[in-house]
Amino acid sequence: MNFDLSTEQKEIIDMAKKFVANEIIPVAQEFDEKGKFPREIFQKAWELGLINTSIPSEYGGAGFSNLDAVIITEALAYGCMGMNSSFMANDLALLPIVIGGSDEQKKKWLTPFTQEFKIAAFCLTEPNNGSDAAGIKTTIKDDGDHWVISGNKMWITNAGEADLYVVYGTVDPALKHKGISVCVVEKGAQGLEIGKKEDKMGHRASDTRGLTFNNVRVPKENMLGKPGDGWKIAMGTLDHSRPLVASSAVGGAQRALDESITYAKQRNQFGVPIAKHQAIQTIISDMAMKVEASRLLVQKAAVMADQGQRNTLVASYAKAFATDSCMQITTDAVQVYGGYGYSKEYPVEKLMRDAKLLQIYEGTSQIQRLVIAREVLS
Ligand SMILES: Cc1cc2nc3c(=O)[nH]c(=O)nc-3n(C[C@H](O)[C@H](O)[C@H](O)COP(=O)(O)OP(=O)(O)OC[C@H]3O[C@@H](n4cnc5c(N)ncnc54)[C@H](O)[C@@H]3O)c2cc1C
Repeated sequence: MNFDLSTEQKEIIDMAKKFVANEIIPVAQEFDEKGKFPREIFQKAWELGLINTSIPSEYGGAGFSNLDAVIITEALAYGCMGMNSSFMANDLALLPIVIGGSDEQKKKWLTPFTQEFKIAAFCLTEPNNGSDAAGIKTTIKDDGDHWVISGNKMWITNAGEADLYVVYGTVDPALKHKGISVCVVEKGAQGLEIGKKEDKMGHRASDTRGLTFNNVRVPKENMLGKPGDGWKIAMGTLDHSRPLVASSAVGGAQRALDESITYAKQRNQFGVPIAKHQAIQTIISDMAMKVEASRLLVQKAAVMADQGQRNTLVASYAKAFATDSCMQITTDAVQVYGGYGYSKEYPVEKLMRDAKLLQIYEGTSQIQRLVIAREVLS
């Protein structure tokens, strides 16, 4: 077992870190405060080849491995977990095409993302169905040479900015998960209504909205796989995307640790830097331990996917452990800063708000534990 990164991986990480230090960290606070979408930063990250890591080389992608993708995501999330949500949502939306699309569909929808800057949205969650995704109510009806999509989606990242929507629905609600199907809808489709931007606790630079599909007609060839293949495609997508969310948590947690170390060495109380107080040292030790353990789980989940092994269990370990740890670590960072940690003038307050979402989207921490229990008890 070798924990070293290759020369190419080190080069791409150095490039990502420079980009984050120059282009994201200086403005992240302002974008958060104003709830401003980082379109230009997103585009620069795309120009550097740091976005759409899941597109295979046959379709114009860089041919990154899952391990490459998680280390790039960690570097981007270090700068801003909120901006990274928007970046990551592209892969979340493109992965169903990678997993379930035909060669023709991949050429049609993946290749343009490598030729020009484009944004995508993954549309699964509905107002009344989040964790219970198999019960979604959006219908996909057969109408000759078209599918007709009707229903409401909620909490969709990039919804107001996307060029492409990957939309889940059911061809027959009575079939439960066996009826779930997935279609690609292009921007501007007649009957697609974009909801108001949500005013969120964190990830305020990302664009999150509801969507309404009012009898949106798409050609038959816009369905990925066959009717009823959607559940398998969604689950396969999550096996790849949960390690990405977990790596975002590692990036945010590493940032909270680094900020805490710097502050603890500078801030004096009782005549010495607070880093000299053992109570602060144990907080920082726990933070460092959890960051490292999270990173190892994330990288194991990614390497298993690269080796073609089923990684559902380890992906859920990584998602639950890394995101719960990130919440704890960012909360502890506020504690290390004391009163100053509670102020928007310092970075740790934002880190704590941003960490919360990672425990919620792409399967809550409770749902990860259900997956883990099902896997270890079976
Ligand atoms: C900012 C943001 C961005 C998002 N982006 C996207 C996106 O791009 N695309 C998309 O499709 N979705 C997206 N989501 C939706 C997200 O995936 C859901 O919010 C999440 O799956 C939880 O669903 P819910 O909010 O309906 O909560 P619920 O499912 O109602 O859960 C509420 C609580 O009950 C718990 N719970 C539910 N069922 C069980 C159970 N069986 N056992 C134990 N506990 C349970 C949950 O863990 C949670 O604590 C986003 C959400 C947010 C907030």
